[in-house]
Amino acid sequence: KRSDAAMYVYFEASMQARVQEQSRLLLELHHAVQHHEFVVFYQPFVRLSDGYFCGAEALVRWESPSRGMVSPAEFIPIAEQSGLINQIGMQVLEQAAFDTVAQIEAGRWPAHFQLHVNLSARQLLSADFIDKLEQVLTRTQLPPENLTLEITESQLMSHEHLATSGLTKIRALGIKIAIDDFGTGYSSLAYLHQMAFDSLKIDRSFVHSMTENSTNQRIIEAVVAMTRGMDVHLVAEGIETKEEAARLREIGCHYAQGFLFARPLPLAEQPTERVTDKLPTR
Ligand code: C2E
Ligand code: MG
Ligand code: MG
Ligand code: MG
Repeated sequence: KRSDAAMYVYFEASMQARVQEQSRLLLELHHAVQHHEFVVFYQPFVRLSDGYFCGAEALVRWESPSRGMVSPAEFIPIAEQSGLINQIGMQVLEQAAFDTVAQIEAGRWPAHFQLHVNLSARQLLSADFIDKLEQVLTRTQLPPENLTLEITESQLMSHEHLATSGLTKIRALGIKIAIDDFGTGYSSLAYLHQMAFDSLKIDRSFVHSMTENSTNQRIIEAVVAMTRGMDVHLVAEGIETKEEAARLREIGCHYAQGFLFARPLPLAEQPTERVTDKLPTR
């Protein structure tokens, strides 16, 4: 009995510590939104047919005065819960759109460069999202055809009807939609066909070690087969080796993103070449 009580005190104390840490994080995150402490990194992706750098994904980092550089995995969940993601997401989108226009104007990125920006379901569900999106395009002068918004398969699955109508409105503006982390959300082919999207990003868990794991490779082959005849761009995420890149190209995947080609980096450190030298020759 006594040891039960001791355990209880222990759990309560550690739970309390966690709750306290979470509320501190939330407080600092509010401050970060007010003071624009977010930095946008870019991770380029390549076309597998020729290695051309076609676009890049904007990935947020929080440059916290007290914590240092914080990864999105640590603060996006709490930003989603609290609703702060609406403001953070807009700051990222505006910065990324602004950077992309400047890069294109300077001739560092090609005119048809695709900027990918991540979107949370929470943003899609907020009433003024479409208005804000249009305002950012107007302010930054980013042409809508240069923009793709990514939303994860699992977030789409959990907010089905609202999300689909949101996606239709986004596409009516000329902006493209990518389904992110595809393969982890258990959606069906029938369901996919009803969705309005332009590309599928195959989750890194299938790409990782696909050359040693034949199940993973067969899953990717199945995705290629099922989207054949659909007007969909297939993007594989998390390519770390030349073997993975070569195999994906053989299977018929169109685009690839991963540490092999480039890590997410600040704008000033983006690759200067137009074509990657990391693709194996055929
Ligand atoms: P994601 O959108 O699926 O982004 C890909 C993540 O995989 C990035 O992590 C990237 O650094 C990592 N990655 C890319 N290539 C490789 C590789 O070859 N190997 C490995 N091991 N990892 C690779 P990051 O930057 O930490 O972002 C994590 C997640 O945070 C993103 O996953 C996205 O869901 C979310 N996120 C990032 N920025 C934003 C944002 O502005 N808004 C929202 N809503 N979510 C964001
Ligand atoms: Mg993404
Ligand atoms: Mg992803
Ligand atoms: Mg992911």
